Amino acid sequence: MTQTTPNHTQTVSGWAAHDSSGKITPYIFKRRENGINDVTIKILYCGMCHTDIHHVRNDWGITMYPVVPGHEITGIITKVGNNVTNFKIGDKVGVGCLAASCLECEFCQSSQENYCDQIQLTYNGIFWDGSITYGGYSKMIVTDHRYVVHVPESLPMNAAAPLLCAGVTVYTPMNDGGLLVEGGGGKRIGVVGLGGLGHVAVKFGKAFGHHVSVISTSPSKENEAKNRLGADDFILSTEPNQMLAKKRSLDFILDTVSAKHSLGPILELLKVNGTLVLVGAPDKPLDLPSFPLIFGKRVVKGSMTGSMKETQEMMNMCGKHNITCDIEMVNPDQINEALQRLANNDVKYRFVIDIAGSKASNL
Ligand SMILES: [Zn+2]
Ligand SMILES: [Zn+2]
Repeated sequence: MTQTTPNHTQTVSGWAAHDSSGKITPYIFKRRENGINDVTIKILYCGMCHTDIHHVRNDWGITMYPVVPGHEITGIITKVGNNVTNFKIGDKVGVGCLAASCLECEFCQSSQENYCDQIQLTYNGIFWDGSITYGGYSKMIVTDHRYVVHVPESLPMNAAAPLLCAGVTVYTPMNDGGLLVEGGGGKRIGVVGLGGLGHVAVKFGKAFGHHVSVISTSPSKENEAKNRLGADDFILSTEPNQMLAKKRSLDFILDTVSAKHSLGPILELLKVNGTLVLVGAPDKPLDLPSFPLIFGKRVVKGSMTGSMKETQEMMNMCGKHNITCDIEMVNPDQINEALQRLANNDVKYRFVIDIAGSKASNL
């Protein structure tokens, strides 16, 4: 589809997939002029999320090619519109999954715009002016200021980038569960899956003084979970004896796994009244047996990313506690290789693209 919106006059270099082969190649395209509510951002870094793979390969049948992926963006503001008072040129900022929402519904009005039914995403969405949105695998982005957050000075811009999706995706359910209260630790938390999302959840849980158990199908993750990330316990979910021994031991479980799996054995780990929150998104229905729900009065719910308010709160919390993602930096010409490794879960824990080539400049 060709960009025809008249005020899209700014030429931008980026990287796009053009068909379901998912192969990423350099791509020159147009972005809109900086409007009165917009900020223009010189992109420094962009994290690579599993969602990017699904979009470039059209796994969900919704991709509008060419697609410029990327919704874990950090950069520096270079222009601000006349209506923008909370950002200025030179500010370090981040852009996550959201590009627009209706601004009027009950969710938009109550800072829960991530649940607006007219939500438009940072890439492969349709913006208010009818243009297709292009994401952070590009040198520059124009974003409505209501969908931009400040990045605290103390955080490195590269390792902060994945916080914009992975970070807020685990922050919101943990915060909703009352787990991120200063001085309020002591709960027993389970984190299912130790990947991009899971490793941040472990860091958040430990920063707030909780007992954190990693639940995984890979024995090789035990050392990593305990010794590198500071988890207190490791439960191998393929070992029924280990699962049985930890029955009714956890207050809260965050399930980050995006492959199909059964929820029954995981639910048995929860105490009575415990909550399991799903943030991974398997494309097939999960097995949800009724007995562990009924006999333990347990709750299963979902959570999708976070609002802009929550994203800023998460950023501020990470600045205060000095939490970032563990990343592996790649150059733009390594995107295809990195996507393949990401598909194989061969990364600790997030690839970040060095968009501006500023690796050495300590930004
Ligand atoms: Zn994402
Ligand atoms: Zn709305």
